[in-house]
Amino acid sequence: MEKYSFAKILYHALRGHKRWQPAWRSPEPKKSYDVVVIGGGGHGLATAYFLAKKHGVTNVAVLERGWIGGGNSGRNTQVTRSNYFYPESAAFFEHSLKLYESMSRDLNINVMFSQRGVLNLAHSDHDMEMLSRWTNAIQLNGIDSEILTPQQIKEMEPVIDINARFPVAGGFIQRRGGISRHDAVNWGYARAADALGVDIIQNCTVTGFNISNGMVTGVRTSLGDISAGKVHITVAGHTSVLAKMAGFGLPLTSMALQAMVSEPIKPALNLVTVSGAIHMYASQSDRGEIILGAGADVYNSYAQRGSYDNIESCVAAFLTLYPGFSRLKLMRQWAGVVDISPDTSPIMGRTPVQNLYINCGWGTGGYKAIPASGDTMAYTIVNDRPHTLISPFSLERFESGALVDESAAAGVAH
Ligand SMILES: Cc1cc2nc3c(=O)[nH]c(=O)nc-3n(C[C@H](O)[C@H](O)[C@H](O)COP(=O)(O)OP(=O)(O)OC[C@H]3O[C@@H](n4cnc5c(N)ncnc54)[C@H](O)[C@@H]3O)c2cc1C
Repeated sequence: MEKYSFAKILYHALRGHKRWQPAWRSPEPKKSYDVVVIGGGGHGLATAYFLAKKHGVTNVAVLERGWIGGGNSGRNTQVTRSNYFYPESAAFFEHSLKLYESMSRDLNINVMFSQRGVLNLAHSDHDMEMLSRWTNAIQLNGIDSEILTPQQIKEMEPVIDINARFPVAGGFIQRRGGISRHDAVNWGYARAADALGVDIIQNCTVTGFNISNGMVTGVRTSLGDISAGKVHITVAGHTSVLAKMAGFGLPLTSMALQAMVSEPIKPALNLVTVSGAIHMYASQSDRGEIILGAGADVYNSYAQRGSYDNIESCVAAFLTLYPGFSRLKLMRQWAGVVDISPDTSPIMGRTPVQNLYINCGWGTGGYKAIPASGDTMAYTIVNDRPHTLISPFSLERFESGALVDESAAAGVAH
């Protein structure tokens, strides 16, 4: 793998940038692999990387029906944090945040992880009660979190209007939270996995499974059958479709979740700011665009576009808190198909079919989970036993009732 460095940029610049090597190969699929990972999003790519890096399993293929990162992993608003309510979620997401902190070095690619702080706002005394309870839980989980007064918020984020239609009553911040560049995360894992021998096969749609005596033996694809010792489904909003092909059902709902960016402007927003009450979250990318995240559409869909009323309500909520941006132009809007589980927590681990594994249910919040998910799923696939960090997120919890309902606990969507 060509090492990325300042010296390399200089070297290639002097040669007109014509000699960069492709970041990964585009091999023909082999007839057989030890592990086939379905879905070339961040989760699939990270799993393939950790299989090769930590466990020495390099005879791995990632099958992607489009282009890598073309799903939700390249469509999200990039918010990364570990300020979860329940200890199970906190342990998992803190592991992930730590892996984000060293990701640029580990993968030798600049993922632009900017730990600028994630601020949650309260707009009433009741909101503030809920946020205090949430902050206490985060601190009990051993994770950084601080309550802020409206004046402290104004000092940290001067353009926010704390006396707006929904006045700011306070908030809490996780200073280690932030945003990174999602394309770089996808490309970084793809490049590093490829360098370890993983085959990344784009434009290859999985159309079915070969299952014999309750055990998966391979996949059917648009490029022909591929046999596999183990198969991992990590296709976000399309997980139910794949599970149905394998003969089992999942408690998932697929919906379009939208995001949008403004035209680029000079640095104006310092933090990632979230208001659960008026359903708005915003940050500014390094390119200057204001990134706005909206809610999911209120109907099921597999279309990667969203409804207009969501765009309108998202912009209206943003302007309520930042009226100074009222003449800013919206530049782009898009959507991804997210897979929402009944308790808004992921579903990870084994399935009713032997040697077939799933990683789904990330809904609106799985970008921040990419590294930890790759690490723990690789362990689970190799050992056929859930990693301790993900055992609370098994499919069986919907039978046992051991749900981990973060949205209900914290009073916001995740
Ligand atoms: C608008 C939006 C904003 C978001 N904001 C945030 C955020 O700020 N923070 C956060 O933590 N999370 C956020 N998320 C959620 C996050 O993006 C996802 O949870 C995460 O990216 C899921 O990654 P993945 O690898 O599982 O899925 P994906 O990246 O969607 O990858 C799945 C891949 O599977 C492929 N596939 C599907 N079917 C097949 C098939 N039959 N054969 C082969 N390949 C197939 C798809 O083409 C796709 O590329 C957001 C999501 C959206 C849509």
